[in-house]
This record gives sequence, C-alpha cells and structure tokens, in this order.
Amino acid sequence: MSTADHVHLRIPGPTPVPWRIQTAMSRPAIGHRSKEASVLIRDISRRLRNVFGTSSPVFPVSGSGTAALEAAAVNTVRPGDKVLVVVAGAFGKRFADILQRMDAEVVRLEIPWGSPCEPDRLAKELDRHREIRAVFLTHCETSTGVLHPVGELAETIRQRSDALVIVDGVSSVGGAPLNMDERGIDVAVTGSQKALMLPPGLAAVAVSPRAWHVIESNPRPRYYLDLLMYRHSLEQETTPFTPPVSLLFGLAESLNMLEEEGLQEVFRRHERLGKMTRRALEALGIRLLTDESCASPTVTAAMGGDRWTADELRAEMRNLGVVIAGGQGRLKGRIFRIGHMGHCHEPDLLAALGTLETALARLGVLSEPGAGIKAAQEVWIADVQRVDR
Ligand SMILES: *Cc1c(COP(=O)(O)O)cnc(C)c1O
Repeated sequence: MSTADHVHLRIPGPTPVPWRIQTAMSRPAIGHRSKEASVLIRDISRRLRNVFGTSSPVFPVSGSGTAALEAAAVNTVRPGDKVLVVVAGAFGKRFADILQRMDAEVVRLEIPWGSPCEPDRLAKELDRHREIRAVFLTHCETSTGVLHPVGELAETIRQRSDALVIVDGVSSVGGAPLNMDERGIDVAVTGSQKALMLPPGLAAVAVSPRAWHVIESNPRPRYYLDLLMYRHSLEQETTPFTPPVSLLFGLAESLNMLEEEGLQEVFRRHERLGKMTRRALEALGIRLLTDESCASPTVTAAMGGDRWTADELRAEMRNLGVVIAGGQGRLKGRIFRIGHMGHCHEPDLLAALGTLETALARLGVLSEPGAGIKAAQEVWIADVQRVDR
C-alpha cells in the first residue's frame, strides 16, 4: 500500500489540489466582513463569469455541489409547478429526487445510462407535457462520462416553451465550455472539488435575468439557499453568511491558474486527456461505456472485461498507488471511471494508464503491456501545445 503522499487520485472528484492552491489556502484567516474579503468576493464573482460564459452574476454558496443543485431547485420552482428532469445517470436522478421532495410535479425523462439525451427525445417529451415551467439538465453526467449536448437541448426547450433551462455543471465548469449566455441557460451551478481543483465545500450558482423574474415572485419558503439574499449581499460585495474564507483564497488562485493557462487551452487539454484515455482503453480491448461523439473531456467510464471485473481492476490499481472510481447506482460493479479533470496533465494520465496496464498484467489478463500507453502517447504527440508550463 502506498503512503498518502504517493497516491494518485484519479477519481472524478474530489480531484488533486495543486500546490499553488494549497499554499494560497494556508494564508492566515481574515474577517469575512473586512474590506479585504469584499475585494476577494467581488473579484471571484466577476472572474467566475468567464468560466461559466455569462455576464450574469455568479454567487459563491458554501456547501458541496448538491447545495447548489438544491439552491437552483428551491429558488426557481414554485409550489405546484410542473418540471421536467432529464435522468441519464446518478446526478440527473439526484436532481429529480431533490425536486420530488418539494411540492412540485416532476416528470422524469429517463435516458439509458451511458447515452446522451437527444434533442428529439426531449422535444417529444416537451410536446407531450404542456406547462413545463423548468427543465433540469446535467451537462457532464459524472456517473456515465457522457457530456450531454446542453446547447442543443436548451435550444429545443426555448423553441417549445418558456421553461427555465437549469444546468448541473458540477463536473464540467472549468473543464469544458458551458457558454451559459450563448446557449440560453438560465441557472447553472458548479462545485469546488471537480475541475476547479479545490477541496470540497464551496459551490457557485449563476442566474440569468429571465430566472430572476421567477425567483423574485416565488413564494416557496427558503432561507440559507435563498438566492435573493445572495444577490442583495453581492451588491454590497459580501455573502449573506460566513463564507469558507480559505476556499475563497484557493478559488482566487484557481482562477489565476485557469487564466494563466488560458481557458481555451484548459478546455483543449481536457479534450486531449479524454482522447488519450479513450484511445488507451480501446487499444487494450476495453469497452467504453459511451460513444466517442458524446464522451466527456473530464471523466471516462469503461466496462470490466471477460476475465476481470471493474472492481478487481480498481483494487489492484489502488494497491499500486492509483485510485480510480467505480460505478454508481445501477452501474455499480459493472464499470470503472477515470477522472481527468482539474489538476491533471498528460504526464499524470500516462502514469495512471501505465498503472492500469500493470494492474491488468498482474491480474493475468494482459500478456504484453504497452499498447495503451502507446496509443495515449500518439494522441499527445499529435497535439502538444506548449512545453513551458
Ligand atoms: C460531484 C457532482 C455533484 C455534486 O456532488 P457533491 O458530492 O454534493 O459535491 C453534482 N452533480 C454532478 C454532475 C457531479 O459530478
């Protein structure tokens, strides 16, 4: 068993925290109502807009990603509203479960886990159910590794209804372009421990002008997650409740890193990492859960083999010092998932893929390791951008 310092964390969140961010977070505490905190909160909120692709305000909310999912739901859904949720994996299901516990009529559009939601399928569902007030989508469905076509889905919704478009971007924001404004997304949320490279505990919510109309007139009781309080506070350059100040220090540094690399190059790197992973697994004869056309740049899911299970592979890799994730919900035991988002660069991935080959060899199901690494290297060689990191 490797010691903690040598373990490579390649799960789709929490993700490794870069040294620069660790250092930034270790600064002495400051008062959350101080001038310095105000400057920090204003700065973070402004710079997060780029990452979301919006000119609307972005609010930091203390809590894990699910707090932001719940904030999106309780603020936009009025008592008795009919809402549609695309359920294509564990996180779509979580959104639906949150809404189910509210006084709302929830229509679940079930999509096979591992497939994308096709716009036609959504169009049919919207035509069947009149008066849908909000549609809840998952951008990257972390449990399957599918990046859903939220742009086309949002367009489909806009053409057919006035429903708000609400997107879970927890495992995509900072790793894939969300383009919130361009795509007509009304509410988008993310969490700190995925592509933003931070420890868990901080979420963010972006809200369009169209969504505010609904939020302002929504009589649903809410307090800690009431976005009207967050808006009022942000106008005073603060947050309604004590924010996790050290995570804010970390987020400012995370934004520095994203800006230095350049957001477009960050997205390209994630594309490259996804492609390296998929080519490597294919070269080893491992079946991917998803098609190339909808594969996420932040996480890859693949099946166990004829002579080995996904969980046997995970256990062997863990022994060798690389942690990967298993399946969730109905995919438990059937798949393994490799996270390649946030603080993950090509050499990190080669280490993980090389370890995966070693593990398969030790399980006695791979006689000649190397094909996977070679395929990954070929992707990297063909697409090297810069060497001056
Ligand atoms: C990680 C994740 C969440 C939030 O999970 P938390 O454990 O509450 O942070 C929500 N949606 C998606 C798509 C995720 O990947």
